[in-house]
Amino acid sequence: MSSVVLKRVLGLRRVNGRGISPDGVRMLGFECGRRGMGEIGSSKFWKLRVFGGQTQRYSSKARARATADSHPDLKRDERFKRLSKEDLEYFRSILSEQEILEGSEEEDLAFYNEDWMRKYRGNSKLVLRPKTTESVSHILKYCQAKRLAVVPQGGNSGLVGGSVPVFDEIILNLSQMNRIREFDDVSGILKCDAGVILENADMHLAEKGFIFPLDLGAKGSCHVGGLVATNAGGLRFLRYGSLHGNVIGLEVVLPNGDILDSMHGLRKDNTGYDLKQLFIGSEGTLGVITGVSILCPPRPLASNVCFLGLDSYESVQKLFAKAKKELNEIVSAFEFMDLASQKLVKEYLKDVPHPLADEHPFYVLIETSGSNKDHDDEKLEGFLESAMEQELVTDGVVAQDETELRNLWNWRELIPEATTMGGGVEKYDVSLPLKDLYSLVEAVSSRLEKHGLSSIDDPSKPVICAVGFGHVGDNNLHLNIPNREYSQRVWAVLEPFVYEFVASKQGSISAEHGIGLHKKKYLGYSKNEQEIKLMKQFRSLFDPAGILNPYKYV
Ligand SMILES: Cc1cc2nc3c(=O)[nH]c(=O)nc-3n(C[C@H](O)[C@H](O)[C@H](O)COP(=O)(O)OP(=O)(O)OC[C@H]3O[C@@H](n4cnc5c(N)ncnc54)[C@H](O)[C@@H]3O)c2cc1C
Repeated sequence: MSSVVLKRVLGLRRVNGRGISPDGVRMLGFECGRRGMGEIGSSKFWKLRVFGGQTQRYSSKARARATADSHPDLKRDERFKRLSKEDLEYFRSILSEQEILEGSEEEDLAFYNEDWMRKYRGNSKLVLRPKTTESVSHILKYCQAKRLAVVPQGGNSGLVGGSVPVFDEIILNLSQMNRIREFDDVSGILKCDAGVILENADMHLAEKGFIFPLDLGAKGSCHVGGLVATNAGGLRFLRYGSLHGNVIGLEVVLPNGDILDSMHGLRKDNTGYDLKQLFIGSEGTLGVITGVSILCPPRPLASNVCFLGLDSYESVQKLFAKAKKELNEIVSAFEFMDLASQKLVKEYLKDVPHPLADEHPFYVLIETSGSNKDHDDEKLEGFLESAMEQELVTDGVVAQDETELRNLWNWRELIPEATTMGGGVEKYDVSLPLKDLYSLVEAVSSRLEKHGLSSIDDPSKPVICAVGFGHVGDNNLHLNIPNREYSQRVWAVLEPFVYEFVASKQGSISAEHGIGLHKKKYLGYSKNEQEIKLMKQFRSLFDPAGILNPYKYV
């Protein structure tokens, strides 16, 4: 299967081979198969059209507005030093040429200054890409002494504006710390540099018969360290749980340059505070993660994926309850998508046929992972037949091989990318009780329409529509609002409305994407005063000069 890789440089979307671009910059990688339509038979109810093949070109888009302009309430903290010639000389004395990227023109460092959604853009003039933990230590020690602000950056795929500077902060990018340090195939513990790309880590593990306990659409660009820093959830959460359980140890450089070496290989260690937990989800505010030790499960020997059409959100919930009961130990993902999200992916993939010929209000992708194919097939087939009989499912397909399995996943994994086609996207990633999950999408949809802000066809409206998808198994809704332009008018209609809605249902305003810049001022909707006070105290204990990722988080 060929692949399409999208690179975001200077607002252009380029199509290229998967992996490293000619200029050595790692690209956002998403596979999207595209091949002439065919049809293969499967069980008596299920048929799957096969697709995959050529590549496709996407339109160019405008650059993000500078965050300083779009957020006039934010002011540069003048206690931070501005970068000087002496500072550059110091960095040149400790780092090689390949570890320093300087830019005088906006375009020079655009790739590092601008976030994935093209919503936030900083104005850093310096990117440091150290190759060793010792270099990170020297950099931070110097920056703390001089009070130079620093933004730690992994693959820059974060979705809350945390990974790019707000003003002129130095970018400390971990992409050149990309070594697998060791893998123990008895315990399943992988030790690697923080800058290893998730997909590379998973490929390394696949060769040994193991799997990374987390997967997500940005796997071709996000770093293992970035995942830990954001406490990412993703597509395997239902099966393998949180990084708080899977991360065994970390190596972290503290803001004063001290190296905290907790790269343990032990699952059990009850000797006091579990310090690593503080860094998981700290989004670059407490230290720079340079090494990760993580527990990886054996790769399932048998996998199945089915893609189903459903008539109502009620049926989605019933199907989930049924899957938990009847597929039990083999269900590894249960993802839902609404019709609007699938229409966007159809548009994005142009003439690639959708797995289901007719349209359905809701779609569900179920993945099973086990160790005995015959057993899993039989279980899944029985489940699907009875779901059809109970009229929970109206149509569906089951992948017959690895290629089809990947192709079905694409219809879910390409939603985030498809939502950015019009220009940008507003993203809300929330946890809600299952019964209330989709009502947020409906409420936001009608609110946008009521205010005359959204239309699929009318290009004068800033918003295209509201779409909902997500990890039903984890009560996690992704409410995405694809737009034609970022607009204060839209923000005023969406915020704090979305957060008030979530708080009224006792949900969380950030299920897995984190806080970053976007949600900092809304933290009070999910954390109480005492919790926020303690978070601030931790932050100033670790980073009294406040140099790490300022203006964000708490
Ligand atoms: C298409 C797409 C799909 C996604 N799907 C999911 C999903 O299903 N589930 C989910 O949870 N998230 C998802 N995400 C968002 C997710 O947060 C990121 O993809 C990933 O966790 C960030 O990794 P990164 O290396 O790109 O970090 P970056 O984006 O570079 O940084 C994210 C934050 O972590 C900090 N940081 C990064 N590296 C380090 C480090 N080494 N030390 C200290 N701090 C650091 C940064 O300062 C920033 O605050 C998705 C994103 C995209 C673009």
